[in-house]
Amino acid sequence: MRLDKWLANSGIGSRKEVKKLLKTGAVTVNGKMIKDAKVHVSPETDEVMLFDEPVKYREFIYLMMNKPAGVISATEDKRDETVIDLLDDAHKHFEPHPVGRLDKDTEGMLLLTNDGHLSHQLLSPKHHVPKTYFARIEGYVTEADIAAFKEGVTLDDGYQTKPGDLVILSSGSESEIELTITEGKFHQVKRMFQSVDKEVVYLKRLSMGALGLDEELELGEYRELTEEELDLLK
Ligand code: URA
Repeated sequence: MRLDKWLANSGIGSRKEVKKLLKTGAVTVNGKMIKDAKVHVSPETDEVMLFDEPVKYREFIYLMMNKPAGVISATEDKRDETVIDLLDDAHKHFEPHPVGRLDKDTEGMLLLTNDGHLSHQLLSPKHHVPKTYFARIEGYVTEADIAAFKEGVTLDDGYQTKPGDLVILSSGSESEIELTITEGKFHQVKRMFQSVDKEVVYLKRLSMGALGLDEELELGEYRELTEEELDLLK
């Protein structure tokens, strides 16, 4: 891989910043000063140093975002802003992708990574990773809805869902609930409520597996996962 990619991947800065740094002569490869960003280096055989300190190569990045409404959970979109557009260059160049999708109008916990193995593990139906959502529902949510979700409901396309764990936080002309499901069908939460003749008017994902949304993150903000958080997902 190119030397500038190695340095940027290790978190030193964007490709542009790294190029500037290289020009100052601060970087050596196997003891030799290298100023050319295009030089090829290998994590197996080469030692890269910055100001005489070894620079460890980092391949993967793991981010948690508090997704705002109005952006698309995709890597690119012709019309709308995507979650990738919200990342700064130093994270963008790792080419992360969102782990699963949240609807354009859904907020909350979204993981982004370039680790295809982990995202497969989190999304594969075989692994039943629980996802918990907070929602506001138009109308009264009842014990009968809890029972129906526990059984599994039939969606508009005939799909029978796996059991969902519905908790009523408040019930009134607008109710607040938490719902935990282990699947990720298209618009699943909204369609589960549709199946009991109710409408989701606000939806936010609170957690994925054992990892909860960092409530310190404002909408649109993100941060890297800690080692401990990553362990919770693996
Ligand atoms: N269920 C939905 O209906 N929408 C989402 O964004 C996520 C789950």
